[in-house]
Amino acid sequence: MKYYDKLIFKLSKEGRTGYSLPGTCFAAAAVPENLLRAEDPALPQVSEVDVVRHYTNLSQMNFGVDTGFYPLGSCTMKYNPKINEVIANMPGFQGLHPLQPACSVQGALEVYYNMDKALSAITGMAGFTFNPCAGAHGELTGLMIMRQYHLLRGDLKRTKVIVPDSAHGTNPASAAVCGLEVVVVKSNADGLVDVADLKPLLGDDVAGIMMTNPNTLGLFEKEIGEIAALVHECGGLLYYDGANMNPLIGVVRPGDMGFDILHLNLHKSFSTPHGGGGPGSGPVGVCEKLLPILPVPKVVRKEDGSFDVVGSSDKAAGQVSGFLGNFGIILRGYAYILMLGRQNVKLVGKYATLGANYIKESLKDCYKLPIPSICKHEFVFDGLVDDGSRKASDGSVEREGATTLDVAKRLLDFGFHAPTIYFPLLFHQAIMIEPTETESLETLDAFIEVMRKIAAEAAEDPSILKSAPHNAPITRPDETTAARQPVLKFQDEA
Ligand SMILES: *Cc1c(COP(=O)(O)O)cnc(C)c1O
Repeated sequence: MKYYDKLIFKLSKEGRTGYSLPGTCFAAAAVPENLLRAEDPALPQVSEVDVVRHYTNLSQMNFGVDTGFYPLGSCTMKYNPKINEVIANMPGFQGLHPLQPACSVQGALEVYYNMDKALSAITGMAGFTFNPCAGAHGELTGLMIMRQYHLLRGDLKRTKVIVPDSAHGTNPASAAVCGLEVVVVKSNADGLVDVADLKPLLGDDVAGIMMTNPNTLGLFEKEIGEIAALVHECGGLLYYDGANMNPLIGVVRPGDMGFDILHLNLHKSFSTPHGGGGPGSGPVGVCEKLLPILPVPKVVRKEDGSFDVVGSSDKAAGQVSGFLGNFGIILRGYAYILMLGRQNVKLVGKYATLGANYIKESLKDCYKLPIPSICKHEFVFDGLVDDGSRKASDGSVEREGATTLDVAKRLLDFGFHAPTIYFPLLFHQAIMIEPTETESLETLDAFIEVMRKIAAEAAEDPSILKSAPHNAPITRPDETTAARQPVLKFQDEA
């Protein structure tokens, strides 16, 4: 333990202060006797430098995208440019209150309006709601719109939602929360939705299908045209999980593929900060015929060009949050789009795809690549080619090999966050890597070099990996206990 790892109360010294106040302008204010404290509060008495070092060091015990590369697959973790923060911190935006009358927040409403137009252009949808505050919240909202669409037509039989077996776990969960029944469609040997398996599932009880394209394996669903035609023919709608819209930005539009409803994760594809549970933004876009069903409140542009908020509508699929969503996150996403501009937005998907394929091709001789085709923004390895395990001549285990967990732990020693591991469940030793477009070639090369070094270490002596990380504040907690009974309070050793 380093001296600054101590609880700040342990650094306290009687009479030490870290502030200086000008004069005593408050001395005259008389506090009634009965409201006065009997004793001083037990605050730590520390100097400014003690406080700065304490909190700076605490902040560095964690890993963040500001301190290193974060190649997390399935959840885009791109760099959040500082200009987003500068803009979100402008007093005119920061001081807004959600109950202010529309006439006093015209600029903010214009941001919503313009962001709606930008996202509609990028995705090929007719309009968006920004009220959902997370990706999964967007899924639920989208499914409520789907359900409302069928209910408004008096079509009450449609209670089933088809979800591929490779889907993100939130998809079946959202459908269940929305009161719909989940039906799973299988993937074929190429990791794509099996159209032959889909056909018999379609009927007049199907509300729709939820898909991600590219899917969770980073593969483009090539049959999407046929799938869209089949689902529409049976009267269902197509929902697009656009949490990781990243590889498609500027290349293909879900609206053109036939999707009717989608959500985006601004806190993934549009660079706003995320992790640790929020805040997020999961705007939902719909095609023309579903526009009246978007939840309220909505931002509208009046004939005189000014903006207003509409609070109710008889067709709307309800209300999904208190106000108009997480404005600060929407603003950051808007700043990101404007910063890139029309030309560069078109490069996002291409660079994200190029980076993923570059890493995949550079490492496939040391890590098993179960699906060798060209990937989109992410891909999956299935453990090490040579994990260092050795068997004796009688077949007994002489030396245990290194697992995917060991590789992930070892990466921390070299200043890289671990990729997503053991997901998707289709492979036993899954390592899922997504570099995003925000990393330089030099960073990708440094990552590749370290991944190769780790593979060589594993082949030579897996124990180096098995005891890693060697210099992280926390090394190997019991994973199950850490997840089920997390210790979230400081544990004082003394
Ligand atoms: C992250 C993610 C979600 C859920 O988003 P949250 O904001 O965490 O609720 C849904 N689908 C996919 C494919 C995702 O990657």
